[in-house]
Amino acid sequence: MQTFRPGQDGYAEEIAGFQTSVATQPAVVVAAESADDVVAAVKYAAEHELTVAVQATGHGLTAGTDGLLISTRRMTGVEIDAETARVEAGVRWGAVIEAAAKHGLAPLSGSSPDVGVVGYTLSGGFGLMARRFGRAADHVRAIDVVTADGELRTVTPGDDLFWALLGGRAGFGIVTALEFGLVPITELYGGGLYFDAADLPEVLRAWRTWAVAAPDELTTSIALVALPDLPFLPAPIRGKHVANVRIAYLGEDGDRLVEPLRTAAPVLLDTLKRLPYTDSGSIASDPPHPHPYHGTNATVEVLNDAMLAAVVEHAVPETVLIIDRLGGELARRPAAGAGWDSAAEFVVRALSVVEDDVDAIRRAHAKLFDALAPWSTGRLLPFLYGEHPAADLAATFPAGDRARLQQLKAKYDPAGRFG
Ligand SMILES: Cc1cc2nc3c(=O)[nH]c(=O)nc-3n(C[C@H](O)[C@H](O)[C@H](O)COP(=O)(O)OP(=O)(O)OC[C@H]3O[C@@H](n4cnc5c(N)ncnc54)[C@H](O)[C@@H]3O)c2cc1C
Repeated sequence: MQTFRPGQDGYAEEIAGFQTSVATQPAVVVAAESADDVVAAVKYAAEHELTVAVQATGHGLTAGTDGLLISTRRMTGVEIDAETARVEAGVRWGAVIEAAAKHGLAPLSGSSPDVGVVGYTLSGGFGLMARRFGRAADHVRAIDVVTADGELRTVTPGDDLFWALLGGRAGFGIVTALEFGLVPITELYGGGLYFDAADLPEVLRAWRTWAVAAPDELTTSIALVALPDLPFLPAPIRGKHVANVRIAYLGEDGDRLVEPLRTAAPVLLDTLKRLPYTDSGSIASDPPHPHPYHGTNATVEVLNDAMLAAVVEHAVPETVLIIDRLGGELARRPAAGAGWDSAAEFVVRALSVVEDDVDAIRRAHAKLFDALAPWSTGRLLPFLYGEHPAADLAATFPAGDRARLQQLKAKYDPAGRFG
């Protein structure tokens, strides 16, 4: 196990992650290679009264640290046994997708294969097949976790710590491995339809009507994105502000299903086709390079015309707006962990690249979410990006879950070692 302190060679590289807007200056970084290393790091932190933070990929950072940072990026073991995967803490979805495909299986991964399995799953995990199979968290069978007392425990469904970790994400321990179920999927119908953002009112209305009637086999979102004028992008969408309908469909009749959308407005680009699940990252084509971003969201039980008008009003090129259709299995299955509003039918997300003034971004996002407030039911932890105060994060949980999480925090981390 290597350790790094400020000023030492390798320190900056070890703490560098995907999210670059969160300022972090750990007193010591432990580059863990095994669960034993994590145990040693947590015990060291207790002896030296340091807080403990953890980073796999840096996609989901919401706070910096000045204590001990456990870097899990070297813990990359993946095992597939029957339809169960066991992965170590530093594994990214791409590695599981590849390994599972060899067995005719797929994980409940999300838009980007670069995101870390543990951070994603502990946030609930809203994936490309969520309306058919539910949250990634709902398929977890066992969690290996090092708690504040330096104990390595295995927790399973029914354990209070299992519930707290799955949804609570930070604050209860450092997960060293996860075991979860895979699904028998090898390919899907997926990709996107791109429209000019000028056609947004028509496209939004058509997408809403279509998405509400959609079968559970379809998981879909609509994203408003200002695309850069760069040669790697297809000419029809290069440098344009577009409305991108994203589709992941598990049925056989994808072309027929999508037909009503193709006539909503002139289609600039249509990338829909059958594709292997191993190419599922191409559906959203999330940016692969690290950058500074800030984001928030609101879950809603309806998406009425007044809400669509608010979205159109706030559809500026500086902000990526995404609306995901929830429902389906997400609504039926009781959440295995904390903090997921099963009654929500959509989640509206806003995300902006941080140039210099993050408060200006917060204010711009707040205008949209204030307009949606009469219909908002809560927020989803995975889609809070960049620095957020602890109270803001706690407020993502419904009051009942929040109280239970506080009790379990006092039980498993009484000294507040994990922040
Ligand atoms: C480009 C992009 C695409 C995304 N797509 C989706 C999506 O489709 N669906 C979805 O639900 N979410 C999505 N997310 C959100 C993502 O799931 C969360 O940001 C998640 O927390 C990232 O986890 P990570 O390990 O990659 O990031 P990290 O920043 O390394 O970790 C984030 C947090 O997870 C916790 N954590 C990580 N490892 C451990 C551990 N071993 N033990 C305990 N806690 C740990 C910690 O609280 C840590 O601060 C996306 C994010 C990005 C940036």
